[in-house]
Amino acid sequence: MKKIIHNKIIILGSGPAGYTAAIYSSRANLKPFLITGNNKGGQLMNTNEIENWPGDVNTVSGTDLINRMHRQALKFNTKVISDHIISVKLSEKPFFMIGEKNIYTSDALIIATGANPRFLGLESEHTFKGKGVSTCAICDGFFYKNKEVAVVGGGNTAIEETLYLSNFVHKIHLVHRRDHFRAEKILISRLTKKIEEKKVILHLNCTISEILGNSFGVDSILIKKNTYLNEKILKIMVSGVFISIGYTPNTSLFINQLDMKDNYIKILYGQHGNHTQTSIPGVFAAGDVTDHVYRQAITSSASGCMAALDSERYLNSINL
Ligand code: FAD
Ligand code: NAP
Repeated sequence: MKKIIHNKIIILGSGPAGYTAAIYSSRANLKPFLITGNNKGGQLMNTNEIENWPGDVNTVSGTDLINRMHRQALKFNTKVISDHIISVKLSEKPFFMIGEKNIYTSDALIIATGANPRFLGLESEHTFKGKGVSTCAICDGFFYKNKEVAVVGGGNTAIEETLYLSNFVHKIHLVHRRDHFRAEKILISRLTKKIEEKKVILHLNCTISEILGNSFGVDSILIKKNTYLNEKILKIMVSGVFISIGYTPNTSLFINQLDMKDNYIKILYGQHGNHTQTSIPGVFAAGDVTDHVYRQAITSSASGCMAALDSERYLNSINL
């Protein structure tokens, strides 16, 4: 039978946002409980090479970085609970959460449940994940300096990633399934310049049907024209494929309970404190679950820190 466990403050998520919130809350002596979720450590566990975490001069693996955050949270008395929340009720206090193993209640809640990049659905993209297939140009682009790569997608993310990569890769093949882009006009006009400079080659009405390679990683892709008349398959030699077809924030639990925009949890933002408060006082959100723009470990950690400070102030204000 499930036990009911209460704590003053509960943090959902064991990525950089959740662990940073835990480190700050526990150093404030709030004795937080952190519920890891099924994806322990979050998105960073999928990468071996992080080069932009400040203070780590040498490349650090996601597992190492998260393990260090985990140990630091434990050092200051965070209780780390291995469970995954399946439903919540936030309209009453204390906040109520049903997990796969137990039931939890809390006076303050920090949601740091992150987001997951979308994939095309090819087996080969998983085979080459981290070996040529990436979902983050800012994270991995540097490894493709002077090489030829492909980007898939036609939204703001795909065009921004293409423009970013164009600063240092040799050439980019932009593959999009339709003949026009969803991205904003200003980005498209910048893209047009890169196409004129022959830095970017467009493949419109095309989908990637296969990613090919060997034990060293990706070496090519097969693309297919999406027209019935012309089913020609084209092989393009590339060392990397950036899948930029959007992200799915892990917010299904909070639908109809918290205000959201495009499925991301809305927070107050602003310069007057309480930056991470959601539409319910006492419920705070941090990291990729609130952010479709920056999506970095450091920005997630920073907002985890803010959520811890905001929740501490909230608990003080209700005298708990
Ligand atoms: P996440 O890391 O997404 O963690 C979410 C957590 O919430 C998980 O622990 C999950 O188990 C938990 N959770 C979800 N649902 C529930 C639930 N119902 N109940 C309880 N818990 C739940 N950023 C960089 O700065 N540098 C890099 O080099 C870099 N490389 C990357 C490489 C890859 C392949 C990917 C995918 C991302 C990379 N990023 C990088 C981006 C970075 O990983 C994310 O921005 C960051 O992890 C977001 O942190 P987060 O804590 O908000 O969420
Ligand atoms: P998005 O707008 O949903 O675009 C996803 C793109 O990927 C679309 O072009 C879509 O094609 C394509 N796609 C989806 N599934 C696919 C599949 N299975 N195979 C091939 N292509 C597929 O996602 P996003 O670009 O990540 O943007 C998400 C949100 O963040 C948007 O609201 C965006 O405006 C915002 N954003 C803003 C900024 C900014 O303001 N600078 C930057 C990044 C993101 P179709 O067009 O055919 O549907």
